[in-house]
Amino acid sequence: MRVSQLLTTTLREAPREAEERSHELLLRAGFIRQLTAGVYSYLPLGNRVLRNIMQIVREEMDRIGGQEVILPMLQPEEIWDQRPASGGPSRLELYGPVLFRLQDRKERAMVIAPTHEEVSALLAKEFLRSYRDLPQMLYQFQVKLRDEPRPRGGLLRVREFLMKDLYSFDADQAGLDRSFERVKGAYQAIFRRCGLDFLSVQADSGVIGGKESLEFVAITDAGEDTILKCDTCDYAANQEKAEFVRTALPEELALPLEEVHTPGCMAISDLVAYLNIPEAKTMKVVCYVASGRMVLVVVRGDLEVNEVKLTNTLNRAGVNATDLHLATPEELAREGIIAGYTSPLQKDEHILIIADTSLQQGNNFVAGANRVDYHVQHVNYPRDFRVDLWADIASAYDQATCTFCGGTLHAFRGCELGHIFKIGTRYAEMFDVSYLDAEGNARLIQMGSYGIGIGRLMALIVEQQHDDKGIIWPLQIAPYQIALLGLDLDKTGSIAEQLYADLTAAGLSVLFDDRAETAGVKFNDADLIGLSLRVVVSKRSLKNGGVELKWRARKESSIVPIAEAVQAIRDALQEKGSL
Ligand SMILES: [Zn+2]
Repeated sequence: MRVSQLLTTTLREAPREAEERSHELLLRAGFIRQLTAGVYSYLPLGNRVLRNIMQIVREEMDRIGGQEVILPMLQPEEIWDQRPASGGPSRLELYGPVLFRLQDRKERAMVIAPTHEEVSALLAKEFLRSYRDLPQMLYQFQVKLRDEPRPRGGLLRVREFLMKDLYSFDADQAGLDRSFERVKGAYQAIFRRCGLDFLSVQADSGVIGGKESLEFVAITDAGEDTILKCDTCDYAANQEKAEFVRTALPEELALPLEEVHTPGCMAISDLVAYLNIPEAKTMKVVCYVASGRMVLVVVRGDLEVNEVKLTNTLNRAGVNATDLHLATPEELAREGIIAGYTSPLQKDEHILIIADTSLQQGNNFVAGANRVDYHVQHVNYPRDFRVDLWADIASAYDQATCTFCGGTLHAFRGCELGHIFKIGTRYAEMFDVSYLDAEGNARLIQMGSYGIGIGRLMALIVEQQHDDKGIIWPLQIAPYQIALLGLDLDKTGSIAEQLYADLTAAGLSVLFDDRAETAGVKFNDADLIGLSLRVVVSKRSLKNGGVELKWRARKESSIVPIAEAVQAIRDALQEKGSL
C-alpha cells in the first residue's frame, strides 16, 4: 500500500476530545474516527489491525473446537422478556435503558442485541438433541450495541463495538467445567499473542448470569476497574467481587447512648476530626431506594459501600434491585431521614436495614442522631438497632487482608479484555433446552458464555505499548509488517519502487511512504503509526551501502546491501516469528 493513496491523515496535535493515550494515538495516527459519542469508524489501518486480532482469536477458537456462525443482531423483544425459572428480573429489566429497542413496521417490539445467550440457546434447543451431540461450541464476530450512559472517548467504553462471543453447551457440570477451562486457556493464548500484560480475576456475573465468572484484565491506569491481587496466594478479583478480612477492633465495655453536638459534621472526615476518633469507630449510612422501598445501608466508617455487592445482596434477598438508586431528597424527606446525620437507630420496620459484616467487629460506634448537627455515641448492636440482613457489601481496598491466606491485597487499575461465564441452566430452563442422555432421560443443557471486545483489545494494546513518539504494534498485530520510507525520491525513486515491488512480490505486507514529504514528516509518521520494521531508502543509506533496517521498538539500525534486502528483511521477520 502506498501512503499517498491510503485513506488516512496523521495529526500532529492531540485532538481535544482525546481522553486516554490510546484514543489520542489512534486518532492522530489515522486508525479511527468518531461519528458520535461512543460510535467509531475504523479506517483502513484500523481495520487491518482488527483483522489481525480477529485472525488470532479465530485460530484459538477453532483450536478448541469452536464453530463459527453469525447470529442475528435484530431480535424479537419477547425472547429478552423471559423471567428465569429461579425467579429474579428478566434480561429486559436487567439491561434497562442500556438495551437499544425499536419497533418494526408491524409495530412488533425488537431489540438490537448486546449479547447472544438467548439466540444460541434456541439454536441448541433445535440442534442438540442427544448426549451424542454434546459438547458443542459456537462463536461469532459481530457488531454489538449498548446504550452506555457514559461512553468514554476512545475505544475503552463505546456504544457500538465488535465482539467475539462464544457459547458452550455441555451435558453436565463436569462438562461445563472442562469447556470453561479450555476457553480460559484459549483466551490466555490470545492475550499473550497480542503482547498484553494481563491478569485473570474473579468478577461479578452481572447481566449474563451464572455463579462463576472469570474476567481477563489488562493492567493500565486508563482502566476504570480496580483489581485486588493477593501478594501471597493466587487470589485476584475485581473490586466489585473481592473478598477481604474486616480488621478487628477491640471490644469495649458497652457504654450508654449519649447524644453529642457535632456542628457541621455531615461527612465522616469532619466527624472524626471533630471528635478525634478513628474512622472505624463511626457508622457510615447510605440511603438507597430499590423497588420503591427505602434501603438503609450501613458500613463501618473506614469502608465504602460497594453497589455491585449491594445489588447482588438485594436480588438474592428477593428485592428487585434493577432500579437501585441513591435516595433523592424527596424520598429521604418522606421517611423523615436527615441527610448527613442518618443512623439505623429507631427505624420503622418497612425500612430495610442491610449492614456490612465489618460492624460485627468493634462496638461503641458513633452514628447520626437523625437531627442536624448531632450524633449519638456508644451505639451498640443489637442493643440499639436492628439489622435485617448482614452481608459483605463493602469494597476491598489496597493493603486489605486476604480472606484466603492472610496475605496483603494490592490494588491495580485495569480494563476488562474478556469475560467468561459458567451460566449453568438459566437459559436452558427458560427455553426448555434439553437433550436425551444415554438412558433416554431428558436433561437440561449446561451453558457457558465467553466474550472478547475486539476494538477494546486494539485500544489496550496501544495503551500498553507506545512511547512518546507513537504506537509500537506487536508484529503480528501491526496493520503492515514493514514501513518502507523512500527519501530523496527524485534520486532514489527507482530503487525504492523496485524494493517495494520485490517485497510485495515476496508476499510481505508493506506500507510504502512514497509521498513528496520531508524526511522529518515521514519519520514522525512512521513512528506514530508504529509499524514494527522500518526500511529506509535514502541518498545517505545508499552511500552507506544499501538500505537501512530498524525495529520500531529499538534504537539501533543496520544497513543491508540492496541486492540482499528482501532476503534480509524476510530473515528479520522470520526471526520474530511473523512468517
Ligand atoms: Zn491470599
